[in-house]
Amino acid sequence: MALDLVAVALPTPLRRCFDYLVPPELRACLPPGVRVEVPFGRRQLIGLVVSAPRQAEGGGYQYKPVSRVLDPAPLAPPDWLKLVLWAAEYYQYPVGEVVAAALPAPLREGRPALGRQARRLGLTGAGRQALALLPARAHRQRALLSALAAADLQLLAGEASGFDAAVLRKALEQQWVEERDAVAEPGARTAAPPLSAAQQQALAALQSAPPGFSVSLLEGVTGSGKTELYLRLAEQTLLAGRQVLVLVPEIGLTPQLSARFAERFGAAVASFHSGMTEVERNDAWLAVAARRVQVLVGTRSAVFAPFADLGLVVVDEEHDASYKQQEGFRYHARDLALLRAKECAAMAVLGSATPALESLAHARSGRYRHVRLEQRISGRAPPPAQLIDLNVYPTRHGLTEPLLAAVSRHLEAGGQCLLFINRRGYAPTLLCEVCHWTAPCRHCDARMTLHRARGRLVCHHCGHEELPPRVCPSCGGARLLPVGEGTERIEDALRNHFPGHRVERFDAERLRGGDKLERLLDEVRARKVEILVGTQMLAKGHDFPALSLVGVVNADQALFSADFRAVERLGQLLTQVAGRAGRAEQSPHPAEVLIQTREPQNPQLRLLLGAGYGALAERLLAERAEAGLPPSGHLVLLRAEAPHMTEAQVFLRGARDLALAMLDGASEVQLLGPAPAPMERREGRYRAQLLLQASRRAPLHRLLPGWLDQLEALPAARRLRWSLDVDPIDL
Ligand code: ADP
Ligand code: ZN
Ligand code: ZN
Repeated sequence: MALDLVAVALPTPLRRCFDYLVPPELRACLPPGVRVEVPFGRRQLIGLVVSAPRQAEGGGYQYKPVSRVLDPAPLAPPDWLKLVLWAAEYYQYPVGEVVAAALPAPLREGRPALGRQARRLGLTGAGRQALALLPARAHRQRALLSALAAADLQLLAGEASGFDAAVLRKALEQQWVEERDAVAEPGARTAAPPLSAAQQQALAALQSAPPGFSVSLLEGVTGSGKTELYLRLAEQTLLAGRQVLVLVPEIGLTPQLSARFAERFGAAVASFHSGMTEVERNDAWLAVAARRVQVLVGTRSAVFAPFADLGLVVVDEEHDASYKQQEGFRYHARDLALLRAKECAAMAVLGSATPALESLAHARSGRYRHVRLEQRISGRAPPPAQLIDLNVYPTRHGLTEPLLAAVSRHLEAGGQCLLFINRRGYAPTLLCEVCHWTAPCRHCDARMTLHRARGRLVCHHCGHEELPPRVCPSCGGARLLPVGEGTERIEDALRNHFPGHRVERFDAERLRGGDKLERLLDEVRARKVEILVGTQMLAKGHDFPALSLVGVVNADQALFSADFRAVERLGQLLTQVAGRAGRAEQSPHPAEVLIQTREPQNPQLRLLLGAGYGALAERLLAERAEAGLPPSGHLVLLRAEAPHMTEAQVFLRGARDLALAMLDGASEVQLLGPAPAPMERREGRYRAQLLLQASRRAPLHRLLPGWLDQLEALPAARRLRWSLDVDPIDL
């Protein structure tokens, strides 16, 4: 007998959807994209309908009926659902969990798809007159009307206005105050500056893309004014009645960029990032679906916002590794953003001063349009970098004499200085001077970092903390020395060396929570901070006009890394950090970039400094092609971790044998390993990995679904933790 069935994605770890019976009265209420409640085992779960109800032979299976439909209409347009399903397939991740990642928590939990409605109250002409005529004793009316004379009042449902309800009611009755459209019309708020000649050319090149889907790589040196081009393209998109998605790599960059969009386009701009509450994100998500928001500026997960009509996708700092989610559902937001643009026939713009090798390869092959912006707005070239040889100049607390002298010079000339070091804490090692014991993490193959202000040793890999020992636990020696340096130590050293100058540290520890970063950045722009010490959080995107010196405390870590992307990342990071310097027209002092290194002869470093990131990228692309590594090859990484290394190895060997059997002699996919992970033990578990490499994507992806089905059936699979990473970026 034929049954009416509907496929539902449920939040379970299984890589499949589940069929449920459609009760006749619900047949018309179950289009793809609505949420339903269904029985699952002994529980009721909220799920998402992924395809229209269909007739099928039941095969004697006892299907359970859908209990309830939650939404009168799909939550999001069909291309959103398509993206979700595609991502589940491509990353081989349970579809229900992909849905869960794509929905804000309140919707996931079955709350009605209603945002808190925004109201906007404004003063009318009559209100303005009344304000002039109100008697002095009507102070509550006055307070309301004068507040509204200054600015419209925006309120969310349930939110108190701060004014007496009766007073507000009376003002509405008298038509002194009116309800306005909660979201302003798109249209220029602040005027756009005239474009530079280089910007004009680049804009024309971007605009010459054919209508519909296109991808342009906007390769523009730091300070070349890429943001202004995003704004111009956005304006054009909004005039065509379509929406805009702007992705940024870090929460820290959202306020700055949303503010620039909001100044230009008014209230139609919203943010989306993990610093917002679930309710705020829910509001933004629903406002995007309802087209109350026209421009969304957000981090990674904003790629899943339900645009009704997406016309432009911008991925700013597209090379940034934080676009890749590193745990759970390991997706790459840049790649999904492009897919999204394709489905929506939208224009995509990838912007960077240091494009990812993947994007450069596509630009070279002609798949992406390549638009360059080689001039800074100020007309000044980014300052050349100079090396300080650590074999020649001794350091004190990580700083050499030439670097300190440069800081002095720039401070005297009224410039700002940025000291970059990509490590938090005071010192990465605590060393016994006598027996050379170093403080290890008891859970990881790693040393503990000394955080002196907190008086703790902290493991940066598992978060384990302990008090530093007073004497060496190994030999009883009393002299334990902090070796190496982190942000805290550099900050201390600079404070001592430059008393009377304000030094501020920018790292995740110092700026955790709230809007501390925002406020400090404002003080930097107001030139109240003279010396900035920071991690990569300062390297990206920020525009500090008065900054004239950038010092890199140590460039060497990456030169010795086993990760094949380490040099690409170093090239990007150094170029980006250096690009913070000398951006403004009237810098007080010619800008300088100084890099301390023990490897001044390193050929890759020399190539970067001599010929620039582009030349380094060319070299690296050639090396990757030779090794069959991305972008010339494709990778999938199977990771496993267990209380003992043998368990992880046994599982991965089983996995390898299964893959070999499935490949049946075909050599299109190579298997490497299993091998221990770069950090063998972490959080008390041993980790190993198996790498799959192929020159074409298709054979690799053909293998995955069947292989995973078999992996899941392995007895060992249930006894340890394992995960699959498609297009991994950390090996
Ligand atoms: P990028 O993102 O390319 O590093 P930004 O977009 O931050 O560069 O621009 C660098 C600086 O130049 C900013 O202060 C910006 O306000 C300014 N700017 C950009 N375009 C113009 C323009 N056409 N006229 C004047 N200033 C501009
Ligand atoms: Zn000792
Ligand atoms: Zn640890």
